[in-house]
Amino acid sequence: MADPIQLERRGLLYVLSSPSGAGKSTIARMLLAGDDEISLSVSATTRPIREGEVDGQHYHFVDNDAFDRLVADEAFLEWAHVFDRRYGTLKAEVNKSLDSGRDVLLDIDWQGTQQLKQVDPDIVRVFVLPPSMAELERRLRGRGTDSDDVIAGRMERAAAEISHWAEYDYVLINDDADRCAGRARAILQAERLRRNRRTGLVDFVRGLTG
Ligand code: 5GP
Repeated sequence: MADPIQLERRGLLYVLSSPSGAGKSTIARMLLAGDDEISLSVSATTRPIREGEVDGQHYHFVDNDAFDRLVADEAFLEWAHVFDRRYGTLKAEVNKSLDSGRDVLLDIDWQGTQQLKQVDPDIVRVFVLPPSMAELERRLRGRGTDSDDVIAGRMERAAAEISHWAEYDYVLINDDADRCAGRARAILQAERLRRNRRTGLVDFVRGLTG
């Protein structure tokens, strides 16, 4: 078979939001695996590092002063308070991927998504819902790390996050991780084919028709 025709295209910003516990990280991991045309934007956060996390890989873990400086330096595309901590998308992270011709996956909450939409109306917004609130609670408890109070707080925040589902372009129900990741991939592939992002099409068609 002949080599595929590769046309130049603009990188896209693919936003994945969900309440904590809906399986978003698994979907993100599956989306990134086996696709070298998309990379994760590693956010900065003031929350403490959790066991198993790696600084610079899961987040850039910074203290309050460092976060303040990043805000003052206008280093963020967006930032927000989540669970009483601050989280922000670094312009440098996003530009690094776009400049190397890759799409960017952003795991951010509804507040960040709203801000980003103002900066770049062309973003792709995907919301992941749990199959039920009972299942969400089961998954949150399954982590085994949080007290009842913390779980109750997370359930409340989950309901608040879910209330923003209609602000998204696509909504997935995560009743099965493989199926959900497959759909997330299908969205990515379709969005990559959008005419307005395929800057190489004009020349290609000119070459076709003379
Ligand atoms: P966690 O602390 O469990 O890793 O993340 C808590 C929440 O913060 C998640 O819903 C995640 O999507 C959100 N979050 C992570 N990074 C960012 C960011 O850079 N900006 C915004 N607005 N939210 C973020």
